[in-house]
Amino acid sequence: MSAIVFKIHSDFYYVKNSDGIEFECKMRDVLKKRHVDICVGDFVELSEDKNFIIERKERFNALLRPHVANIDCAVIVCSLKEPELNLIQLNRYLTYLKYFNIEAMVCFNKLDLDTSSHKEINEIYENLGYKTFFTSAKNKSGIHEIKKNIKDKTIVLCGMSGVGKSTLLNALMPYANAKTANVSKGNLKGRHTTRHCEIKEYDDFKIVDTPGFSCLKFDFLLPNELIDLFDDLKVYKNNCKFSDCLHNSKEKGV
Ligand code: GDP
Repeated sequence: MSAIVFKIHSDFYYVKNSDGIEFECKMRDVLKKRHVDICVGDFVELSEDKNFIIERKERFNALLRPHVANIDCAVIVCSLKEPELNLIQLNRYLTYLKYFNIEAMVCFNKLDLDTSSHKEINEIYENLGYKTFFTSAKNKSGIHEIKKNIKDKTIVLCGMSGVGKSTLLNALMPYANAKTANVSKGNLKGRHTTRHCEIKEYDDFKIVDTPGFSCLKFDFLLPNELIDLFDDLKVYKNNCKFSDCLHNSKEKGV
């Protein structure tokens, strides 16, 4: 029987079949010996007694951090205020997702704290092909627009802690009960409140609830590969005089 892994707790894998029936399983030793890695979002095959995972199906994509597989789309949540909008972090998330070939949408949250015009920011990201949303998760505004765009999809919410991911999750899925944390006054960065990865389902969409991850590491990427992740820059790559150029401002003659 086929199933999808929706939660993992130490050695236990919580899976759901196509009828929505849940099972608690362990991984067959033979998979452990082969170092098969199983994460939330993986499609798996179960033993007849449904106690074991005996096979992991091929993934169509997978993220490293958070470690989740088979995602249709990622919504990057940023806050306009508290913490201040951080476009460098947003661009890092976009780059990260592009590397893993995962469609990205951008949600600018806490609109109630910043009612100035966001036309310019919106144009930048929409012109790059990203769908954008402006929300106040706290006041539940802009939520319907997101729901329209994630219909029938399994999505992941990502972004720095304190930007409102858990509040947004609760607004999108009123019964999800994700814990939210007050942004700490000292550095206005917020605190982690989600401790493990879990796929939560609502009418016609699924959300992978993940712990906040504030620091993205690009240790899997060589510096000279980075330009390929920027469509607007890579057109200049072949005009460069030096084949090993990193196209940054420290290098002369680029
Ligand atoms: P997470 O760490 O990204 O999951 O952030 P949380 O959802 O825990 O939110 C951090 C803090 O920001 C909490 O105090 C929330 O009440 C607050 N918050 C979340 N969304 C909004 C919003 O749209 N407007 C305002 N004013 N506060 C928000």
